[in-house]
Amino acid sequence: MRSFRTLEDLKPAGLRVLVRVDLNVPVENGVVSDATRLERILPTIRNIASRGGKVILLAHFGRPKGRDPKESLAPIAAALASHLGQPVAFAANCIGSVAAAAVAAMQPGDVLCLENTRFHAGEEKNDPAFVAALAALGDVYVNDAFSAAHRAHASTEGLAHVLPACAGRTMQAELEALDKALGKPARPVMAIVGGAKVSTKLELLGNLVSKVEVLVIGGGMANTFLRARGLDVGKSLCEHDLVATAREIEAKAKAAGCEIMLPVDALAAKEFKANPGHRVADVSDIAADEMILDAGPKSIEAVIARLQTTKTLVWNGPFGAFELEPFDTATVAVAKAAAALTLAGKLVSVAGGGDTVSAMNHAGVVDDMTYISTAGGAFLEWMEGKPLPGVEALKA
Ligand code: AMP
Repeated sequence: MRSFRTLEDLKPAGLRVLVRVDLNVPVENGVVSDATRLERILPTIRNIASRGGKVILLAHFGRPKGRDPKESLAPIAAALASHLGQPVAFAANCIGSVAAAAVAAMQPGDVLCLENTRFHAGEEKNDPAFVAALAALGDVYVNDAFSAAHRAHASTEGLAHVLPACAGRTMQAELEALDKALGKPARPVMAIVGGAKVSTKLELLGNLVSKVEVLVIGGGMANTFLRARGLDVGKSLCEHDLVATAREIEAKAKAAGCEIMLPVDALAAKEFKANPGHRVADVSDIAADEMILDAGPKSIEAVIARLQTTKTLVWNGPFGAFELEPFDTATVAVAKAAAALTLAGKLVSVAGGGDTVSAMNHAGVVDDMTYISTAGGAFLEWMEGKPLPGVEALKA
């Protein structure tokens, strides 16, 4: 049994359906440079429109302080129309008479995009008057923006309390994938946490040690853990002030029966750039003027060997400075191994959060993993075990 309603529970014919979507796409010189997020909301829009609902899109764009034409959703609505293959009308305000007139002009099956919700301070404040002004435009509310669900804003949370609410297709897919990964996962579960710093992922590590059997720590953050084990990491990125915290996380993991895997060897270089002189070195043999920039071959082999007996993988953060060759080696090798196991039906693999999506793209495995979440902050907060207000409100 699902704990939230879905589009199956909605009879949209003739209704004004307020649909919260993620239109926060990268735009370069007025042109959408990556349409992944637009593509992801099409199934929800088509589902509602094809059943005679009037689709009224709500979204934020950027971080405007008040009305700012540079952060208008107008060009994004136009780009959406070409992906959708049907006109998308646009209203230059998301509340008030302009919005009301645009909604009143809609026929069943039409799609309308309202202007950036963040042009109004009431959006981020979740102001009841602003919620009411939005709610006046619709009969029901559909939330399809998992990526904004960690925020309790008017269009992401408030509306769910004043209108009948359900999850859209993308939200549903995301929640189901995440539930498979950490909710009721097939065990054993491995988490890979990499990236630059421990400081940004403390809560995440703290939550994972009590949820997974194996926690693989990679990237710059592994250096702080190596330091905590008494090793010298030379000039590597290392948060010396968090060495004690790293020891506490190790102790918590031990108490919870979670094995922490750290790199045993590394690619070490003296300069932070692509293709510098570098060598494979044991982590106990890093010189004072060297940096650890990727995990080495023995570490990769150990992680891949452990993956063979893993049933579920949750991954955030690269193993190394993957933007610079050859320090993408470990990330690519482990991603390919995980993708192959997933394709063979032996592994459920879920990866997400910021740089992880570009790392998986770089490894060419995006279509082969079970699920790649494009949500940044919301994915991390979910990995941290925090309730997401936008999701909780759908359960109410
Ligand atoms: P995050 O946003 O925390 O996932 O961190 C991603 C960033 O961590 C990427 O830009 C990587 O280049 C960087 N990174 C990963 N491993 C290392 C490392 N060993 N040294 C320096 N930077 C690293």
